[in-house]
Amino acid sequence: MKRILLIEDDNFYAKTMKKAIQRRFMEMEVEVAATMAEAKKRLDTNNPDLIVADLYLPDSDGDHIPKLVEEGYSVIVVTGDSDLSRKEEISRLDIIDYIIKSESSRFGYLLKLIARLEQNKGKTILVAEDASTVRELFKRFLARQNLRVLCAADGEEALRILGDETVDIVLSDYNMPKVDGLDLLKAVRERYSMFELPFIAVSSDEGGDTVGTFLKLGANDYLKKPFNKEELLCRINNTLDTVEMFEEMMSNAITDPLTGLYNRRYLSETGPKLVAASGRYKEHALSVVIFDIDHFKHINDTYGHLAGDKVLKDVARALQRNVRASDICVRFGGEEFLVLLPSTDFKRAFIVAEKIRKIVANMAIPVEEGENVHLTISGGVAAYAEGLTLESLIKRADEALYRAKQAGRDRIEMHEGV
Ligand code: GH3
Ligand code: MG
Ligand code: MG
Ligand code: MG
Repeated sequence: MKRILLIEDDNFYAKTMKKAIQRRFMEMEVEVAATMAEAKKRLDTNNPDLIVADLYLPDSDGDHIPKLVEEGYSVIVVTGDSDLSRKEEISRLDIIDYIIKSESSRFGYLLKLIARLEQNKGKTILVAEDASTVRELFKRFLARQNLRVLCAADGEEALRILGDETVDIVLSDYNMPKVDGLDLLKAVRERYSMFELPFIAVSSDEGGDTVGTFLKLGANDYLKKPFNKEELLCRINNTLDTVEMFEEMMSNAITDPLTGLYNRRYLSETGPKLVAASGRYKEHALSVVIFDIDHFKHINDTYGHLAGDKVLKDVARALQRNVRASDICVRFGGEEFLVLLPSTDFKRAFIVAEKIRKIVANMAIPVEEGENVHLTISGGVAAYAEGLTLESLIKRADEALYRAKQAGRDRIEMHEGV
């Protein structure tokens, strides 16, 4: 999303809203129109990705909303009018959301919604619902939220789709033929946790304890029929927010913040599994390379610590780009990088390490105006042999690295006696 058009006649409100949006989304272009006549002019020259429109304007009592929707625009209505029948009437239109100004503290909700619309791109929701009219309603509304919508008429079809497609969230009815919502949830939870595949259940709940059963079986949330679009949207958005927050936390826990490479915690979780696999299957080779930047202290001393950080980032990126996606790149120490290379014997690993050494030796890293840092790295290679652990494998690579340093740096050494 690049361009937003605000249609708002309250000049001060429009200005603060524009500021709030631009502060949060730096790359967003925000235009303001105070009347529909002005908005039309802007729409003729520029196609906005999103329109945030007031309900009452000097030249419209709200008729502009259905017109904008008909013309295919994505519309969020923001209004000072808290009349519920008006809200119901407008919400029936194919709009993204209806926000009452007094219910949204300092644009907090609006900003979250815009962020959500951005993050929804590329995400898929699977809707399992046997009533075709309801299914179509869900589909239209959720597509408006920038989600890719897949539909299933029963739980069985939903399971088939889950087998074939990458799905980010499931919205499922309870009563459905063949496989019902509860059995669908059970099947989903056998394979995915609440954070891997969130599940929102929908039901009229005549029985009484359906909500509890769904939640105990691992539904992330629950919608009781009848519900309005607003409730549906909030429950889906809250669930997606929570899951994304969890994903980010998990990824932070295993990532080095400066370079984006894996950290030692990840190495100590994953490394032993790879070593064990190599121990079990003779054909599974495994190699490890440790690189250490030569005279890095000198780079820090000459160009400053920030420049040193930039060098670390660029070297890390070069490393990541020149190994396979299945190789694991770790920031092992301050200026030390470790790469685990599955299915790679020591000869191949040496070739890879040499390639990277040469690439780094040819790098010119711009740090300050006109200043290019040149640097070299040394590396040590070791390959898995029977009886080795992750620690002893790393120790071998480290010994080889030590010899590379002793021999004059800017070189790769292999552990002997593989
Ligand atoms: P050698 O060729 O023997 O490896 O020499 P060296 O100077 O690279 O090695 P030494 O271990 O003496 O110094 C490493 C330096 O790396 C010292 C430390 O201040 C610096 N360093 C560690 N982590 C960071 C970091 O995150 N950012 C920056 N800028 N420097 C770091
Ligand atoms: Mg107004
Ligand atoms: Mg070092
Ligand atoms: Mg060093």
